Amino acid sequence: MRIALFGGSFDPPHIGHQLACLYVLETHEVDEVWMLPCAQHPFEKQMSPFAHRVAMCQHAVASLPRVQVCTIEQELSGPSYTLHTVRELSARHPQHEFLLVIGADLLRERAHWHGAAELCQRVRFIVLGRRHVEGTHPPRPPAGLAHASQAAMAQGSLVAVQPSDLRHVEPLDLPAVSSTAVRQALAEGRQPRAWVSRRVLSYIQEHGLYRPVAESKTRAEETDAIR
Ligand code: ATP
Repeated sequence: MRIALFGGSFDPPHIGHQLACLYVLETHEVDEVWMLPCAQHPFEKQMSPFAHRVAMCQHAVASLPRVQVCTIEQELSGPSYTLHTVRELSARHPQHEFLLVIGADLLRERAHWHGAAELCQRVRFIVLGRRHVEGTHPPRPPAGLAHASQAAMAQGSLVAVQPSDLRHVEPLDLPAVSSTAVRQALAEGRQPRAWVSRRVLSYIQEHGLYRPVAESKTRAEETDAIR
């Protein structure tokens, strides 16, 4: 099978992630998308506990039958480098071909990717435009190109970009949502219903994640009082 790997913090997963999975499945020759929640961020980003992020991803993919959540990064020691994950997955599943889906914002970090050259040799990339990323927002395809692309795709020549060509950004507009904006909205006591799946929002509420600061303080004070 041809599997598109989609890694991230997913703290929390949002509608941009879900639409990205659907887009890749529907427009590229891939059989499945595997969401890969990161266990230990390579750039030491603070994240919610892994188990919560995995559970939220599972809720997010519940309506996407060919999307799975893969928890391999928790099994690998040290920072979650994509290269290590890809090597391990290729060793465990030699029958599969792996591709890598990334948002265009990650291209800025390319110089700091661990083992970038080997990673580019091992996998082909699908780069998704992100609206807030200056210079990487995908240009609209000129008239006629969409038709030409469909024809090329039908002939199997547009499966994914070549590894050396990370300049190609998919010509689509995903919503400009980010997990940061979702966390901020929740911390301000707002419900970002347009950005997050209802199932994920219920999970967040049930587990008291990303609470408003005042509420978190009250809880911390309560906990202190109990001690
Ligand atoms: P944060 O705001 O916490 O940095 P994020 O919204 O960027 O999080 P991640 O979990 O870091 O979400 O993203 C996983 C992958 O999805 C990355 O490759 C990222 O570029 C891509 N991505 C996230 N949101 C979008 C979006 N709205 N459009 C296109 N790509 C996206």
